[in-house]
Amino acid sequence: MNSQLRREYLDALGLKSWALRGKPGLAGAPAQVTAAVVGVAAIAEPPMLGAATPMRDVSAAREAGAGWDELRARVAACTRCSLSSTRTQTVFGVGNPHADWLIVGEAPGAEEDRRGEPFVGRAGQLLNSMLHAIGLAREQVYIANVLKCRPPGNRDPNPTEAAECLPYLERQIALLKPKIMLAVGRIAAQNLLRTDKTLGALRNQVHRFGLSDVPLVVTYHPAYLLRTPTEKRKAWEDLKFARDVVSRV
Ligand code: SF4
Repeated sequence: MNSQLRREYLDALGLKSWALRGKPGLAGAPAQVTAAVVGVAAIAEPPMLGAATPMRDVSAAREAGAGWDELRARVAACTRCSLSSTRTQTVFGVGNPHADWLIVGEAPGAEEDRRGEPFVGRAGQLLNSMLHAIGLAREQVYIANVLKCRPPGNRDPNPTEAAECLPYLERQIALLKPKIMLAVGRIAAQNLLRTDKTLGALRNQVHRFGLSDVPLVVTYHPAYLLRTPTEKRKAWEDLKFARDVVSRV
């Protein structure tokens, strides 16, 4: 990605790019990106993998053996929880089935329920910009949610819904074998990590997900960032932190 394009994406994130005076750039990096990296150097060094949250005990056996097509068909026909009676359609996930990055949100919203695709609309556009800011196109990653059906009124998923739906995501992860999972938003992070810790307490560390032991990093949901743009810089820090983790896998 050229420097002009990357500057535009950083601008879309609300992050002012700047150039350091009198300091050389990082090898191979555009000057303004180098400056942005140095500007958040306080979290530039990820902790060692495996030094963070204990691994959760995952039961992925329910959907074991299903390939992508079979899994998609099972989700489309699923009536395991009451959300099946209120959804327009299931939202399976989208992206590159060989992606290194798996982005996981909470659940479909109204627009996602209507279109059958996760992270569309304004929040989806911001997610795309966030990904582009670290050199990734939406088509290069895989995007899914903890829940495949929309909770009415966009309420939080309840524990039964999450427990019934998680095996689908776990099978997606087993098929995908990502190098990293990016949990976006408090609800996604809490469900994936089985914790009630705040998002702030979960950021800036490398968690591990499931038996596959996939590194997992937590950041803000783009819908939250649209409401609270002052937090965009923290999201930018999280993305660079995650990118550093991937470079070490
Ligand atoms: S939310 Fe998940 S478990 Fe519930 S009906 Fe939809 S696909 Fe099935």
